[in-house]
Amino acid sequence: MDRRLFLQAAGALGLFAALPQAFAARLKPGASAALIVVDVQNCFIDGGTLPVKGGADVVPVINKLAGAFENIVVTQDWHTAGHASFASTYAGKKPFETTQLGYGTQVLWPDHCVQGSDDAALNKDLKLPTAQVIIRKGFHKGVDSYSAFEEADRKTSTGLAGYLKGRGIKTVYVTGLATDFCVAWTAMDARKHGFDAYVVEDATRAIDLNGSLAAAWKQMQAKGVKRIQSADILGA
Ligand SMILES: [Zn+2]
Repeated sequence: MDRRLFLQAAGALGLFAALPQAFAARLKPGASAALIVVDVQNCFIDGGTLPVKGGADVVPVINKLAGAFENIVVTQDWHTAGHASFASTYAGKKPFETTQLGYGTQVLWPDHCVQGSDDAALNKDLKLPTAQVIIRKGFHKGVDSYSAFEEADRKTSTGLAGYLKGRGIKTVYVTGLATDFCVAWTAMDARKHGFDAYVVEDATRAIDLNGSLAAAWKQMQAKGVKRIQSADILGA
């Protein structure tokens, strides 16, 4: 069939009418999907102790996404004073250097998100009406936890996988701070625990320490985490 004939035939069959809809196909998170809002706390926003560049910009995007979800899980970095992930805990160490802990290499951070401080509070502009659970992580003094599922020793569970399974959740959409640490580890652990996992890129911001953002996307993609934009759910 030549091109002109094909176009006529396709037109007659109504194929073109279907095309705009196909291009605008949106993801529809239903009852078996959860939005995970990672660490949108004062500490990770300008004015906080470990600000992520543009961190505040995720809040309006996450608030809009929230309207599309029946299930929302919030996480909160929640450290003890003198935590193993703080540079100030070790003589002669500076933030963003590393040290070796029992479970492997630990990046050392400025003191941040100390339990009960204003710095550790969730950002006050978050509006998440269907959020029912907050997973607090990093509260064992000797163990960090980037992931919302497992602490950095890769043994201690936060209970999130069991919670989600108990609620019939099969797919998670991960948002928040920071893309290359807590968001990435959460999304990859979601895959490890058998969930479909999306990262909504424009609802995240990165720290990008020595190329960590590009490395994180590569690792996430290798584990089957899908990279999407909020418009893929909300429309343009
Ligand atoms: Zn932390």
